[in-house]
Amino acid sequence: MKQPKNSPPPMQFDAQHFRVLFEKSGEITLLIDAQSGDIVDCNEAAVEFYGYSAAKLKSLQIWDINTLPEETVRQLLRQLVVGSRTNFEFKYRLSSGEIRDVGVYSIALEIAGRKIIYSVVHDQTQIKTAQAGVILFRRVLECYINGIIITDATPDTRILYVNSAFERLTGYTLAEVRGKNPRFLQGQEHNQTGREEIRAAIKEQRAVRTILKNFRKDGTAYWCEVGISPVRDQSGNLVSWVGNYNDITARREAEKKLEYLAFFDALTDIPNRQLILDRLDRHLTTARRTGDHGALLFLDLDQFKHVNDVQGHEAGNELLRTMARRLQGFLRESDTVGRISGDEFILLLPNIATTAERTVEQLQVVLRRLNDVISEPIKIDHSKYNLTASIGITIFPQQNVTAADLITQADIAMHRAKESGRNTCCYFEPVMQEHIKETTVLVHDLHEALARSDFRVFLQPQVDVSGKLIGAEALIRWQHRQGGLISPAKFIPVAEDTGLIVPMGEFMLREACCMLRKLELAGAAFRLSVNVSLRQFQLAVFPERVKQIITTTEINPAHLTLEITESVLLHDAKAATAKMRDISQLGIGFSIDDFGTGYSSLGYLKNLPLKELKIDRSFIQDVPGNPNDTALVEAILAIAHHHDLRVVAEGIETAEQFDFLKSRGCPLFQGYLFGRPVPAAELVDKMLLPYSGTKAPAV
Ligand code: C2E
Ligand code: CA
Ligand code: CA
Repeated sequence: MKQPKNSPPPMQFDAQHFRVLFEKSGEITLLIDAQSGDIVDCNEAAVEFYGYSAAKLKSLQIWDINTLPEETVRQLLRQLVVGSRTNFEFKYRLSSGEIRDVGVYSIALEIAGRKIIYSVVHDQTQIKTAQAGVILFRRVLECYINGIIITDATPDTRILYVNSAFERLTGYTLAEVRGKNPRFLQGQEHNQTGREEIRAAIKEQRAVRTILKNFRKDGTAYWCEVGISPVRDQSGNLVSWVGNYNDITARREAEKKLEYLAFFDALTDIPNRQLILDRLDRHLTTARRTGDHGALLFLDLDQFKHVNDVQGHEAGNELLRTMARRLQGFLRESDTVGRISGDEFILLLPNIATTAERTVEQLQVVLRRLNDVISEPIKIDHSKYNLTASIGITIFPQQNVTAADLITQADIAMHRAKESGRNTCCYFEPVMQEHIKETTVLVHDLHEALARSDFRVFLQPQVDVSGKLIGAEALIRWQHRQGGLISPAKFIPVAEDTGLIVPMGEFMLREACCMLRKLELAGAAFRLSVNVSLRQFQLAVFPERVKQIITTTEINPAHLTLEITESVLLHDAKAATAKMRDISQLGIGFSIDDFGTGYSSLGYLKNLPLKELKIDRSFIQDVPGNPNDTALVEAILAIAHHHDLRVVAEGIETAEQFDFLKSRGCPLFQGYLFGRPVPAAELVDKMLLPYSGTKAPAV
């Protein structure tokens, strides 16, 4: 071949040049005597790698550096000489003691009659470390608790890799998803906001964190918190995407459940107080703007407590669930029914009419239908329940009245409905709120009065047909510090509600027994009647208390009568009867007060340990003029006679009433005609008068 013009003359390499090349080559190079294993020469790269000086290195034998045993190394050298092997992997020891993985390329040369091995050494520690790193990363990804997807950097972001957590989470294997765009995981739910966010982030090549609803291979849905990040190489080019999928289905469900519980009643699945308040608040705002009026109904089931106590909580719960379903079925779409607590429901009926008056009119129809819905018998197990409800109503909007105020108003009205005999409804009036305020003051005063013993016993005489004093009823009075004598009608209901009636009742019983003792000691055979309230009677320890008092006062129990009302029997007749038996065994007589005003059947009379009936004043008032009352009083007297019960006619104010009752066989009387309630000492003195100084007759 002809040389082109102007080309430089070919270079001549001599031994000197090769020596420089050997010295300066970046390759770690050693010359080894194949026979003796001596390192006969080394270059600068070798000096640097091994950390020995050139002189030191040249004083060593190759097995001082190679970690293999001398014998093995000798054998390898022999193999090299015959040319059978050229590439090796060894571990070499550096002067520092550190062991390095090396790849060695060796050839045998003959130099000056000696067999010399020319070895070029490649430090592979870095490569090995990198490989180990890759393996470790794979392991980490496989063990990682979250699902990982790695995709390529093409616009279609095709899946390159998924870890085992992903496979477990989705049910798809790597083979099934490789090459796909991860968007298939969202199934048909293309329009999720999370997906929009991811799309935007990928377009802008930035990281994104969002929530996705995905679907498993079996079609079930799960929620993921997804973090997707771009992966770049050293020069900043996008090479792939890595996505971290954290399954948050359980957490979301728990959150949803919590959210639900914050606004719904777990037992009945209807809104709770909070949600009612929220909705009421919203309706109030619209009502104020549009001028439309709505109503809030507070509904309390009358007999629920009884069902719960007698039939057990499961029956009670079933009853509440049934009632909730019924009320829901009864309402319009825009109405809300919620449960406030226990057996208390709220009905929220917005937009009824444009004025308060029209709203009340329209409500009449609603209330009639509501009554039908509530009173329809409920069957649970084998029992049938006929329920009624007391309903408090308030109309909105009102000026400066919040949602919470409205609930309070309806609640107050409901209590008023309950007081006026249950199974009724009652509209809220502002005076009721005044009443509540007064009550709060009253409760405070009552506590004080009890602590200071401001209560007094008054006695009202009871007489026989001849008008002779035979006993008295003890009636409580409150000697108010400023207000003079306060009648029980004012404070007994509040005392009942607050439980203060219990200590009051005990005070009355103890005082009455002390008076009886005084009368008995003087030889006077009078009877005293003491009123026992429902709350007091229901106390488990009540029989025990009565026993204690009559034992400590040492009275003749036959002189004591306990007046109870029919309400005592209404609550738990069986338990009440048993308690009455207990007490009457002590020799104490029971009387049914206000007889005829209760609801219970007369059938119970024969099962009770009774001594006496008191005909209520309301029946006596109009006899003999009113034929209805006359017939009723006659009937009561006949029943009493039949059951061998004593009868006391209460509230006798006129001679005509007295005459009429005498003529119908009534044996005992009480009323203003014979005497108003007077301070106990006054009547006791009067009773004692005939006995003072004389020997007492036997009882
Ligand atoms: P009650 O047990 O039915 O008592 C009879 C009430 O009728 C008494 O009212 C009495 O003063 C009144 N009264 C008696 N005769 C006549 C009459 O001829 N005409 C009129 N208009 N009224 C008459 P009072 O003392 O105001 O007591 C009212 C209610 O308070 C009692 O009704 C009773 O339910 C309750 N109460 C009074 N003291 C006690 C007590 O110590 N314990 C309990 N638990 N309740 C009591
Ligand atoms: Ca009474
Ligand atoms: Ca009475």
